Amino acid sequence: MFKDKVYTSIQCELNVVHHCNLSCRACTHLAPTLEKHFADANKIFDDFLILAKYYRTKVVKILGGEPLLHPNLIQIINAIRSSGITKRIHVVTNGQLLTRVSDLFWQKVDEVQISIYPTKEISAEVIKTFQHKARIHNVAFQYLYFDKFRESYSEIGTSNSKLVRQIYSTCKMAHVWQCHTVDNGYFYKCPISPFIPRVITNCVVKPYQNGVKIIDSPKFAKDLLTYLESSEPLEACSHCLGSVGKLFSHEQKERKTWRSQQQFSTEELIDMEYLTTLENNPIAKDSCMRNRSRVKNLFSRAQRMQRCLVRKLKRITV
Ligand code: SF4
Repeated sequence: MFKDKVYTSIQCELNVVHHCNLSCRACTHLAPTLEKHFADANKIFDDFLILAKYYRTKVVKILGGEPLLHPNLIQIINAIRSSGITKRIHVVTNGQLLTRVSDLFWQKVDEVQISIYPTKEISAEVIKTFQHKARIHNVAFQYLYFDKFRESYSEIGTSNSKLVRQIYSTCKMAHVWQCHTVDNGYFYKCPISPFIPRVITNCVVKPYQNGVKIIDSPKFAKDLLTYLESSEPLEACSHCLGSVGKLFSHEQKERKTWRSQQQFSTEELIDMEYLTTLENNPIAKDSCMRNRSRVKNLFSRAQRMQRCLVRKLKRITV
């Protein structure tokens, strides 16, 4: 929706690193296959500063790969905040390195989410220490258990254009959760489309073909809206499984054999029953997360507003 040329979205993701300290099978960011990469805070500031003229988001989600591997995360958080693109900064981590972060990290962020996987559990005592840190720094904190994953992409893909349309139209990342992504000067409507062409070497799609270049132009806001509202699948969708890959129990895979699981066609990796379910109910659960009642320590709206006010007052008094 436009308001004075500003588009307001649910969330915009930023991959501050591409690599990860884990190697989850079918990671949707394809992190186990990617080289080490650390995003540059100055570049992020420049991109978000331009984007902020035409686009606002409720929250910027910092992730990766594993975002806590970035040595200059505080600079990145400052860059996002100074750009004015959002009021809330959220970090999504697997939690393995969270014991090592400084108090400054907790002071700078608004929300922290840990995704916990069966082979990489975090003890209740350690969770309690995170909750304590979050409480004293007024950070919204949640930890979610993911026991299952869905297949994320196919190296072979499909030439069935009807199926590609079905995958795209039921894609929660693009249409329900709106996991918009900024990566190296480009804006994407989903997290996986910048990475599929980088990983599949015989893929004819160029990485940037799936996104929109962030430029300071009066035309940009309209181009962005057209891109976001398009009913046409992205080029990457012919290799992607969107939200409807087959369900399997979560596992860690060796990096060198990680891609072997994906050497099947889209048709072989898809969960047709779930695709039909999503066609009838676009927000039907994907069965990946364990009991949601484990979500803890989420701050109320009133508490978040209070935190915002405190931050504004601090800025005024500096
Ligand atoms: S590539 Fe297509 S199907 Fe995959 S996440 Fe992006 S929009 Fe969805």
